[in-house]
Amino acid sequence: MAKFDSEWIPKSAMAIFAHPDDAEFSCSGTAAKWVRAGCEFTYVLCTSGNVGTHDLKYTPESLTVLREQEQRNACAVLGVRQIEFLRHDDSRLMADLTLRRELVHLIRKYKPEIVFCGDPNHLFWENNRINHPDHRAAALAAIDAVFPCVSMELLWPEEGPAHEVHGVYVRDLTFVDTWIDITETIDLKIKALTEHHSQLDGIPRLGDMIRKRSAEAGKKHGFKYAEAFRVIRLK
Ligand SMILES: [Zn+2]
Repeated sequence: MAKFDSEWIPKSAMAIFAHPDDAEFSCSGTAAKWVRAGCEFTYVLCTSGNVGTHDLKYTPESLTVLREQEQRNACAVLGVRQIEFLRHDDSRLMADLTLRRELVHLIRKYKPEIVFCGDPNHLFWENNRINHPDHRAAALAAIDAVFPCVSMELLWPEEGPAHEVHGVYVRDLTFVDTWIDITETIDLKIKALTEHHSQLDGIPRLGDMIRKRSAEAGKKHGFKYAEAFRVIRLK
């Protein structure tokens, strides 16, 4: 199986996203599939989503505790054992050098072959939704950390030895070139999403929506269900 082919599975991977539940929407079917095949998978959450509610019974502190537990529960469903919470404030995430350096530290620590992230250029969905600014910031910081920072020996040597990431799987809605068959793990993806009660309990037929989306992604490639990515092949 050639590297980056649909059925290729790396030894290690890291998903870098802004909020608890982002990785579940973006790449959790692939995460569960790769973990089953022995891939060491790490989640990095840049914020803990501490203002992500309209329910005033929560405070930022209590919501942090709840959403981190929801993320741990989702990871337990998927078999993802390593989770890093950076605890930046929700809705104020900046793709600055502080965040980039924290990501460099974690990438050098876990040495993932593959990094998953969002699309830093994604601003709108058609004409009725605006992408969350934290999603763009997390995506940009992840990409800037991967290249060139993690691989530069003279940059922040105290954050660990330089490392080269082999590829970045970008959850890009405008261009995709790699489809991962998640037929075996779509139930785990949906179950993991439903662990995010504080966010998703109000969405009717969430499972049906995920199945429909995943079926659309898979149909041209003969997969019942798929996740699709733009894969940046670096090594
Ligand atoms: Zn989000």
